[in-house]
Amino acid sequence: KKITIAIDGFSSTGKSTIAKQLAKHLGYVYVDTGAMYRAVAYFAMQNGYIDKEFFDKDTLIASLPYIKLHFVFNAELGFGEMYLNDVNVEKEIRTIEVSGFVSKVAEVSEVRAKLVEQQQQMGKDKGIVMDGRDIGTVVFPDAELKIFMTASAATRAQRRYDELKAKGDSVSYDEVLKNVEERDYIDTHRDDSPLVKADGAYEIDNSDLTREEQFETVLGLVKE
Ligand code: C5P
Repeated sequence: KKITIAIDGFSSTGKSTIAKQLAKHLGYVYVDTGAMYRAVAYFAMQNGYIDKEFFDKDTLIASLPYIKLHFVFNAELGFGEMYLNDVNVEKEIRTIEVSGFVSKVAEVSEVRAKLVEQQQQMGKDKGIVMDGRDIGTVVFPDAELKIFMTASAATRAQRRYDELKAKGDSVSYDEVLKNVEERDYIDTHRDDSPLVKADGAYEIDNSDLTREEQFETVLGLVKE
């Protein structure tokens, strides 16, 4: 019988790596909800609603009906790529600029309401692995399996730094660490759906676990 698997945790804990691997193994659909928040932040950035100094929340809220998000499955990659108004934005949403704005955009209740509803629609047929910050608490509080991933900020910053470097981004480690810490702070302190461990979630601290060890741990929980 297919189930719903909710994976939550801080930035760069390797949630998406595990979630993708798990979905592939089980023949489930993987949904990266962070990509949806990133796409909204990218939209706000492109339209000049958000900048380092200001954020025009009201105009973003008024524009929400014109933001169409969907995933298109890429068989080669094995997961869905993010489309914003029918344009593939998979690359654009992963930059350090978008990372700098996304948590501010994700604080807006109207944004969250729109995305949560869409996520619930995508998961209504079970057989889904969804990762984010509020999946086990808000999107699917009845998920059969909930996982809460943690790792030290330094471990996470190093991972994100290595990823960005590999893509040729000229970013410094300190900048990445600062971004990770800022997002942790905003994500855990916002009024609407702050990041907390859901009731019944299994906590996995993967600072010292290899990818294989993490996968085996999670797979063991699925089989329980
Ligand atoms: O998972 P990722 O790091 O790509 O998510 C980017 C940001 O989107 C997070 O830092 C958080 O502010 C927001 N987010 C959220 N709720 C989710 C997924 C992501 O608020 N379910």
